[in-house]
Amino acid sequence: MRRTLIAGNWKMHGSLSSNAQLLAALSSGVDEAVAADVLVCVPFPYLAQAQLALSGSKVVLGAQDISERAQGAFTGDVSGAMLQDFECRYVLVGHSERRCLHGETDVQVAAKAAAALALGIVPVVCVGETLAQREAGQAAQVVATQLAAVLKHVGVAAFSRLVVAYEPVWAIGTGRTASAAQAQEMHSGLRAQVAALDADVAAGLRIVYGGSVKPENAFELFAMPDIDGGLVGGASLVAEDFLTICRAV
Ligand code: PGA
Repeated sequence: MRRTLIAGNWKMHGSLSSNAQLLAALSSGVDEAVAADVLVCVPFPYLAQAQLALSGSKVVLGAQDISERAQGAFTGDVSGAMLQDFECRYVLVGHSERRCLHGETDVQVAAKAAAALALGIVPVVCVGETLAQREAGQAAQVVATQLAAVLKHVGVAAFSRLVVAYEPVWAIGTGRTASAAQAQEMHSGLRAQVAALDADVAAGLRIVYGGSVKPENAFELFAMPDIDGGLVGGASLVAEDFLTICRAV
């Protein structure tokens, strides 16, 4: 009943010419045989290119960040209304690279999720622990705290209009994937946290896994009962790999 979501996160990769090839391959490759929603989150300057290249295809467009503010003197920021101009249906919020490299706090991430929800853009709320936190036995507590900040700000009912991504920081871009069992344990904990507030919302909530998802491990991960798809970085830049992951659903 939860429709699987496969989201590509291009991060700061791409060019007009390489994007053109990748987008064309995805647009034709994501067909009826793919039993998942497929999303690509492209860098801001390429939203217009991607919007055009994906029009009429089954691949939907997303962005990698959103300002928590509507407009104003916020140099370098991009508002939700701007994303809407390019038909972005989803936006990543609180990716660990934003949290670690740009100092985004739990409160700010929650405000960004709220800004997206207010415009009908689906926030993909990213949570995840570092290696040090995992080794200290704090993984579950860390992600629970990150999720709690969003629950507090937007309320549990809004969780029927967002996606959660569990991304252990130690598995991102490292080639080191959480085992399917490790990921399942964390996903089921996150779902239980939401279920404690609203069982129906929790049952319908999509929780996707991110961190070195590859063609070789996608099938096993997606077979887990609480893993509802993937947030794919590196492998989303190679059309064949990304399509293989989409077909693993
Ligand atoms: P990765 O990135 O697949 O390259 O590990 C995932 C992400 O950061 O979203």
